[in-house]
Amino acid sequence: MEFAYYNPKSIQALVDTLSGLNNYALLAGGTDLLVKMKEKLLRPMPEAVVDINGIDSLQQITDEDGYLWIGPLVSHTDLTKSDLVNQKAVILAEAAGQVGSPQIRNKGTIGGNICNASPAADTVPALLALDAQVKLRSQGGFLELPLADVFKGPGRTCLVPGQFIAQIKVRQIQPDEGAAFLKFGKRKALAIAIINCAAWLKVSDGIISDTRIAFGSVAPTPIRLYELEKWLIGKQANAEVFTQAGEIAAQLLKPIDDVRSKASYRTRLARVIVFRALVTALERVEVGCRW
Ligand SMILES: Cc1cc2nc3c(=O)[nH]c(=O)nc-3n(C[C@H](O)[C@H](O)[C@H](O)COP(=O)(O)OP(=O)(O)OC[C@H]3O[C@@H](n4cnc5c(N)ncnc54)[C@H](O)[C@@H]3O)c2cc1C
Repeated sequence: MEFAYYNPKSIQALVDTLSGLNNYALLAGGTDLLVKMKEKLLRPMPEAVVDINGIDSLQQITDEDGYLWIGPLVSHTDLTKSDLVNQKAVILAEAAGQVGSPQIRNKGTIGGNICNASPAADTVPALLALDAQVKLRSQGGFLELPLADVFKGPGRTCLVPGQFIAQIKVRQIQPDEGAAFLKFGKRKALAIAIINCAAWLKVSDGIISDTRIAFGSVAPTPIRLYELEKWLIGKQANAEVFTQAGEIAAQLLKPIDDVRSKASYRTRLARVIVFRALVTALERVEVGCRW
């Protein structure tokens, strides 16, 4: 396999490099890309590989005005170890900690996890529950859009040639809010999710005033279950309501059979995972919660 190799050292150099190329692939950790290249799974195969690992500004996590700004090159290991992420968006650290194995987490990045566009990607439900936005960069400038709009199907994103993720913006969890991420796989490690789920709750005086609930591995892309969110708003935050929420999720989701699970088993798991995620999210709300 032959390809040209580029390793720009700044964002501007990356923009300039991409504008001169037609058929290329960005290389972050390479845990998805290199497997696909080796197995010749890409059509067409890239004629150029653009390695972004030399761009320091893509590796930073900063805290600004109630948001975390995360560079796409931040690895899963860095997410799990980051004080900022653990303090202000803990479910992202927890989701990253569920990815693959230590080796995969050391190399694999959050930007790669998003752009690989797997329906089962672990960080994505957590990001959707945290209302993440992505900042895309190209020669035309910046474009900020909701993460949910990035996914177009399994392995497909809205990114056009010349465009890349420059930053991911995540809403920080506030004291009257709580969140949880859970994953069911066939093993405790190195397992792609049969189903994963992230729930975020805002609670005032025991009533759910806002919520976001996201799933992976139950649809062609990771999804938010807006209908369930709407149903939950205004309800008491308690076990009875969360049990009903599990039933509603099981009715709304339309998973498929695949190598990892039957659809019927995924539906059964959906009931359990929603209930447990909501209970844990509620336990994490620091104020305003009444059982
Ligand atoms: C053994 C194994 C186990 C795994 N287990 C899991 C798991 O449990 N959970 C899970 O979610 N994933 C898992 N994965 C998948 C993979 O490790 C993750 O998706 C990882 O986060 C990919 O990141 P990366 O940096 O390696 O991406 P790369 O392979 O470098 O890139 C992936 C894709 O994203 C594009 N890309 C990368 N960065 C950008 C950017 N900034 N802008 C635009 N495009 C970009 C690349 O061009 C490529 O198309 C596993 C993979 C392996 C090999």
